[in-house]
Amino acid sequence: MPGYDPNNIFAKILRGELPCYKVYEDDKTLVFLDIMPRAAGHTLVLPKAPARNLLDVSADDLAHVAKVAQKIAKAQMAAFGSDGITIQQFNEGAGGQVVFHLHVHVIPRKAGVPMKPPAAEKEKPDTLAEQAKKLSAAIASG
Ligand code: AMP
Repeated sequence: MPGYDPNNIFAKILRGELPCYKVYEDDKTLVFLDIMPRAAGHTLVLPKAPARNLLDVSADDLAHVAKVAQKIAKAQMAAFGSDGITIQQFNEGAGGQVVFHLHVHVIPRKAGVPMKPPAAEKEKPDTLAEQAKKLSAAIASG
């Protein structure tokens, strides 16, 4: 497996070199909205420590990402009136990974509404800003 590339797009977001629709941050994780959501409120949970994917992340960082993913899922249920949550996580190109900094997709679902294909459509900035605000508020009150 190749090594970690510090110039991947999520590394740039983590360093503050590129913007994101942030919904949560702690000492070990950053959480922001996917700009090409597969469903409204699609969120990504990243460890701050450099890790390409599940195969090289430390067990502690992975456990923390899982804890935060649960926190986000619960907040999505409250914020968006979701009926369920889909979790996805891809490893290496053959596993469907496109951005090579570990991230867990936390995707709110409505009954009977299929997910869009990956990277189908860029969401409007206003919509993303509004969803990030709603989700942050639900996390803070959760
Ligand atoms: P994957 O590596 O297959 O898990 O896919 C990467 C995900 O990152 C896709 O769902 C993209 O829509 C998403 N994505 C790509 N660039 C950005 C960005 N600048 N901000 C937020 N999400 C992004």
